[in-house]
Amino acid sequence: MRTPIVAGNWKMNTTLADATALARDVRAGVDGVVGVTTVVCPPAVSIVPVSMALEGSSVHVGAQDVSANPPGAHTGELSAGMLAGLCTFVIVGHSERRAMYCEDDRSTAAKAKAALAAGLRPILCVGEPLEVRENGRAESFVTSQIEGSLTGISDISQISIAYEPVWAIGSDRAASPEIAQEMAAMIRGAVADLYSKAVSERLPVLYGGSVNAGNCASFAAAPDIDGALVGGASLDGHEFAQIVHAAASV
Ligand code: PEP
Repeated sequence: MRTPIVAGNWKMNTTLADATALARDVRAGVDGVVGVTTVVCPPAVSIVPVSMALEGSSVHVGAQDVSANPPGAHTGELSAGMLAGLCTFVIVGHSERRAMYCEDDRSTAAKAKAALAAGLRPILCVGEPLEVRENGRAESFVTSQIEGSLTGISDISQISIAYEPVWAIGSDRAASPEIAQEMAAMIRGAVADLYSKAVSERLPVLYGGSVNAGNCASFAAAPDIDGALVGGASLDGHEFAQIVHAAASV
């Protein structure tokens, strides 16, 4: 039995005041919900105030990125050790970081490794661009991302994988529940090949890409999908809470 994870990726949105207000809305909206792990990932500058606003609640805080490097001369970066004292989860390999900041499977694996060593729980993002899907290569592309992004990691018990087709992110064009389920099952199979069936059966596989209050129930009902990574809709505390409730009620 896998506990679903619903994580909100606030990206580069919210002032400090917006972030704490949103955290309070999420807290109120998910109060008393059981059977789901709720996570919010604010901008790094808001991790501390958001954690304080959520203190004593069941809502976890995550970072949106982490450096793969140990502390030292890395201007602008945050080490896994710094974040580990402040939050529980961290997103690695998001398609925006891959596309805009030249991150690849190798750097993603290094970040996931550093995060695990510090006791953080990585949410590893994979997903194909539109042209790859249109060329019928989505499965091999995502399999290769998984192999590359998990290289050198022997224990994945603290990792979850988010299948986020690039064409569905921020697009109002979510994948169909059938495609999302098919890809989630494929990811589980790839992880079984790399580790074992038992390990793959414990792995939370999230879907991300234009999830909202209107479509979340159909993803939650899919047997291989264990929650959601939510961008735009996570900026509305009420809507995000509805997505959390949908994941909890399956
Ligand atoms: C994301 O960026 O991880 C994401 C899923 O965004 P959105 O929900 O806005 O598509």
